[in-house]
Amino acid sequence: AMNKDVDDVYEALLNEVDVEPDTVLEDKWIKEAVKKCGMKYRWAKIAETKEKENKDVQRQPPPDPVCLVNRPPVVTIMGHVDHGKTTLLDSLRKSQIVAQEFGGITQHIGAFLVQLPSGEMITFLDTPGHAAFSAMRARGSLVTDLIILVVAADDGVMKQTIESIEHAKKAKVPILVAVNKCDKPQADPQRVKHELLAHDVVCEEFGGDVQAIHISALKGENLLELAEATVTLAEILELKGDPSGLVEGTIIESKTDKGKGPVTAVIVQRGTVRKGCVLVAGTAWAKVRLLFDANSIAVKEAGPGMPVEIVGWKELPNVGEEILEVESESRAREVVEWRKYVEEQNKLKEDQRVIESKQEEHRESYQKNREKLAHLKWKKRRAVQYQEYKLCIANRPIQSKETKHPSLSLIIKGDVEGSVEAILNILDSYNAEEQCQMEIVYFGVGDISENDVNLAEAFSGIIYGFNVSANKSIQDMAAKKKIPINMHRIIYRLIDNLKEDLSSQLPTTT
Ligand code: GDP
Repeated sequence: AMNKDVDDVYEALLNEVDVEPDTVLEDKWIKEAVKKCGMKYRWAKIAETKEKENKDVQRQPPPDPVCLVNRPPVVTIMGHVDHGKTTLLDSLRKSQIVAQEFGGITQHIGAFLVQLPSGEMITFLDTPGHAAFSAMRARGSLVTDLIILVVAADDGVMKQTIESIEHAKKAKVPILVAVNKCDKPQADPQRVKHELLAHDVVCEEFGGDVQAIHISALKGENLLELAEATVTLAEILELKGDPSGLVEGTIIESKTDKGKGPVTAVIVQRGTVRKGCVLVAGTAWAKVRLLFDANSIAVKEAGPGMPVEIVGWKELPNVGEEILEVESESRAREVVEWRKYVEEQNKLKEDQRVIESKQEEHRESYQKNREKLAHLKWKKRRAVQYQEYKLCIANRPIQSKETKHPSLSLIIKGDVEGSVEAILNILDSYNAEEQCQMEIVYFGVGDISENDVNLAEAFSGIIYGFNVSANKSIQDMAAKKKIPINMHRIIYRLIDNLKEDLSSQLPTTT
């Protein structure tokens, strides 16, 4: 909608506001244009607004190390299309359902938890691919601790495999390789690991520190080894969280549920979320009414590394948004109000920036058109003068030709409009100072014509030509009628000539 507004303004600027050649594009123009578009002086609001006190809420300073406890790693599965990401997630989820003896259908909440026989837990984000990962990274709130890179052993390193590696590198998230489809006869896991070398993913057997597990997502083979390798990597990374204090987290999914209303899936990163907590996320806030775990079972609380579904939002927050707990509902309202205000201000500034660049663009094209406009204006002015003059001649009685002031009638012809214009402009300034009036009977572009001679005869005028010619018959005709034709190729000579003619008209006084 913003761009449309600005375009409207621009349209109005070009079409509805009068463009005078000497006017610079001014603010009032835009205001005018905007008024015509029905838009308010929104930028004016920016200028009017005084610096308001920052009411935002931020993440807390790092926790005291003594408060830290181990937490489950949060894992994203990435890799090339058809290499088995979805199948792997399904197998992992299924293994978990069996382990926990939940026969029912699990509702997808964007993440699920896998518990190893040894008790360790892993949180898997179950929206595979780059989209979710990128959305979170774009918001600077990366929840992923490590990436499982799925590479099909029968296909090897492909385009999106490489992209995934680049995503991981940029986000500085360590990788674990799952060489998938090892059940296939044509599977060649060695080749996969070799190909990965070219992208700086050096597996352990090549002396690197990247673990590679050979699996079959379809048959569920070696999934435990994969989970154990994940836990090992998590231990190396020393993933810990502080379950006390204010809650911090990230939204991984956001939707409106028919029964529950706005619902979000969240990864808790700090603190412990409970019923009654007041949370803000972007410009939305919630008072937590209900909490559900990844199996849609109502839970009382969720701590660091845990995925949880939160019900109680007043508005639906965006995926990737950071969640922060505040002390009260009134504080939540204040933060949200402040953020909406900042958002609006930024939008206004952006609007203004676009308008300014349009203005600049317009100014440039305006400069180009400036001469053209000035010339048109001049032509119009001359045309009016000429009409008035003709009218005045038409109404003048023939006899009263002897005027009080001496006057000289002129006919000016030039090769181009520019030269005629230049001569007329000089005469304009000259006219005012002289006692002898000159009257320009006619001016125009082209060679001296019969009409010019006739006009000169009618007004006892003199013809001046600049860079034009007069053919033999015209010259003869003028000579017969005793009409002087002065031809020049240099403007100041023409002007000098004209001045002489003018002063010769003045009564000789001493
Ligand atoms: P995604 O695009 O990465 O999510 O890939 P999918 O999980 O949709 O898998 C693509 C195809 O590969 C499907 O037909 C799967 O059944 C098949 N597939 C996935 N994992 C394996 C595996 O371990 N072995 C075999 N033989 N096929 C697999």
